[in-house]
This record gives sequence, structure tokens and C-alpha cells, in this order.
Amino acid sequence: MSNLDIFRQETRQWLEENCPAEMRKPMTADGACWGGRNFKFSHPDQKLWLERMGEKGWTAPTWPSEYGGGGLNYDENKILAEELFKLGARPALASFGIWMLGPALLEYASHEQKMEHIPKIVKGEIRWCQGYSEPGAGSDLASLKTKAVEDGNNFIVNGQKVWTSYADECDMIFTLVRTGPQEPKHNGISFLLIDMDQPGVETKPIKLISGKSPFCETFFTDAVVPKTNLVHDLNKGWDVAKNLLQHERKMLASMGLGGSSAGGKGKGKSGSGLANLSKKYVESSEGKISDEGLRQKIAKSDMDAHAFGLTLRRASEEAKNSNHGPSAATSIFKFFGSEHNKRRYEIMLEAMGTQGLGWEGGEFGPEELAVTREWLRTKANSIEGGTSEVQLNVISKRVLDLPQ
Ligand SMILES: Cc1cc2nc3c(=O)[nH]c(=O)nc-3n(C[C@H](O)[C@H](O)[C@H](O)COP(=O)(O)OP(=O)(O)OC[C@H]3O[C@@H](n4cnc5c(N)ncnc54)[C@H](O)[C@@H]3O)c2cc1C
Repeated sequence: MSNLDIFRQETRQWLEENCPAEMRKPMTADGACWGGRNFKFSHPDQKLWLERMGEKGWTAPTWPSEYGGGGLNYDENKILAEELFKLGARPALASFGIWMLGPALLEYASHEQKMEHIPKIVKGEIRWCQGYSEPGAGSDLASLKTKAVEDGNNFIVNGQKVWTSYADECDMIFTLVRTGPQEPKHNGISFLLIDMDQPGVETKPIKLISGKSPFCETFFTDAVVPKTNLVHDLNKGWDVAKNLLQHERKMLASMGLGGSSAGGKGKGKSGSGLANLSKKYVESSEGKISDEGLRQKIAKSDMDAHAFGLTLRRASEEAKNSNHGPSAATSIFKFFGSEHNKRRYEIMLEAMGTQGLGWEGGEFGPEELAVTREWLRTKANSIEGGTSEVQLNVISKRVLDLPQ
């Protein structure tokens, strides 16, 4: 038996013994575990699952064990993902710390900063939000104006961020602040970690058309931040910011895997979710949707998702033996993934007809309401993490090397 076979056997056994029953049920819309000081667990099993996975470092399986990560290599991580998938296990933790901040800290933070922050991310003890965008600094992020001024062992921070997802529920925020001159704008930016639990930090929710309110405006008024929370060198925060954005875009690209059977997480998953949903609302005979136009759109969407899944898998296999994190090519995946997800929801709405226009209750079931709201939510896919236009700019400049 090879080492990997032994690893698979042990992993399967550990999961069998440690994944609580409730965490083997399909994820509900609001069933994600975000962790942090203020998180309300939906079930005791959710807490238990986070604690067990966090202790083993399997919420961040490939991060170094020195900082509380799982220390797994590429092949072991793939096996873990496959075994979790087979068991139908829910992710133990959803976290901006895992998806974005942790990878950037591993690359740019000091050993002391890693020791301080990474284990708490792995265990879901601290919930992080992202303070990048400002009014007037979205696509043109480097124009940001939130200012951090040195004051002894601290920085004093003043300014405003906007579209800060979940800021009102988070413990800490990773921010870009101006510590140098406004011009040249990329050179005067620093990457600062700020505790939200202090009088100088306030949040105000912003309501969306989907009815939810996951965003906030975040205000800093003389917020005090120890200098030990500066990541990388003063005025060199743009390097950290770009690296983190690539991790964010890689994570967001996976939205485009809906309908894919090639996501690399086990075999045999049906790629016909769109067709199955559509058949509930439109005429079909002998298992085939009668409307040829709709049939073609569904087939194209499923094929696109499948090809995209294979492409992502190929890219991840290619990266297997290199030590490089995601590159600017991530913008290709972010662009395709978010545009594909939007098209998929348009097809669902088309198939559902008037049943896709419900807002609440009445003759609309929970599945219909969920699709309608998610359709509205997908409109943000091509904005969050950098707009589609910005991704195309990155691709043309940094991937295709076209002239400005
Ligand atoms: C769901 C969601 C969650 C988000 N969460 C966060 C978060 O947690 N933290 C955070 O900091 N931010 C967050 N954002 C903000 C997001 O990063 C910005 O909305 C995004 O970068 C666009 O910036 P903007 O809204 O200022 O639009 P603008 O930059 O004003 O863009 C307006 C339009 O102009 C186009 N445009 C602008 N510049 C160019 C150009 N050079 N070439 C071509 N077209 C251009 C854009 O593509 C867009 O269509 C979130 C956004 C959404 C939708």
C-alpha cells in the first residue's frame, strides 16, 4: 500500500469518526459557519465540527503546521477534498481569513505576525473583513484616501471604507491605508490590520436589491492601531494588496463551477442541475425539454461549466510543483466564472417564467424565492473582487502583454 493509500484510509476513518451527523446534511442557504467572536452557531454539531477540523488544521489543509495549518501536500489535500465530498461533509469554516488574508500573510507577514494571526484564522476564532474600497476608489483602488499617521508606537487612522462585506459582524479588518503621498499613488499605501472592537471604528449597513444587507460603510475616526499590525514594509502595501486580490479572484472564480462535473471533487456528479430545475416549469416529453432554444442554452451552459472545471483543474495540476501562488491569469478565471454564473441564473429565470419573479410567500415556494434572490445577487458577481472590465484590463496588460 502506498503512503497516499494509507493517508486516504486514515483520513476516511478520522472523518467517519469525527464529522458529526448534522454536518453531513446538505448545506442550507444560511448554514455556513463564519466563526469569530460573535458568531451564533446554528447547531452544536456546527461548533464541534469547526473545533475538530480547526484543531487538525484541516480548515486550511495546505498551510504550514508551524502556524496551525494542516501541512498537507497537493496530493494529500486532494484526497482530503475527495473524502469530504464522499461523506457529504459541509465545509467546517467559510472565511475571508482562509480565502484571502491568510495566503497573503504567509507570503508577506513577519514570523511573529503569522504566529499571532494564522492559528486564529485556522480555528475560526477571529472573523476578518476586507477594507479596500472607498467612495471614489473602487476600480481605481490606488486612489484611496483613508489615512494612517504615525504616532509613537501606533498609527492613527481616519477615513472611510465602503462595501465592506459583513463588517458589522467581524472582529478585525485588513485595510489599505495611505501612509505616503497621494502621487505616485501606488507607492504611498500600507497594509494594516485593525481591531474593529474600539471606539474609533463604526459600521453602518447598506441594503441591497436582493433584500439582504451584507455590506457596510466603515468609518475610522482616530482609530488606534499598533505598529506591529503593519504587514510588510511601510508604503509597500500595494504588493500585499495585489497578492491578496489574486487569491480573492481565484476564490470568486469557483462561482462559475455551477453545473460542472469537472471540479475535481470526486466523480459522477450530475451536470444537469439546470435541466432538472427547468423541467419542473416547462413542457417536456420523454425526459426532454420541448423548447429547443432553452434546451440549447442549457446544453451550452453545462458544457461551458464542464470545460471551465477542467481548465481550473489543469491550472491547479500545473501549479502543483511550483511554489508560486496565483498569478494575474486568475483574472481570466474570475472573469469567466462570474459572467458564466450570471448567464446560468438568467437561464433559470427564463425557464421558471412568472414563478421566477416571486419576492416572498404566496404561491412561491422556498426554492423559487431562493432562485429569484440569488439571481439578483449574481448581478454583483461581475463587480465584487474587481469588475469584469477591470479583469479584461488586467488580462490584456499582464497576461497578453498588450500595449496600454
Ligand atoms: C457583492 C460585493 C461585495 C463586495 N465586498 C467588498 C469588501 O468586502 N471589501 C471591499 O473593500 N470592497 C468590496 N466590494 C467593492 C468592490 O470591490 C467594488 O465595487 C469594485 O471594485 C468596483 O468599484 P466601484 O463600485 O467603485 O465601481 P467603479 O470603479 O466606480 O466602476 C464603475 C463602472 O466603471 C467601470 N470602470 C471603471 N474603471 C474602468 C476602467 N479603467 N476600464 C474600464 N471600465 C472601468 C467599471 O467596470 C464599472 O462598470 C464589494 C462589491 C460587491 C458588489
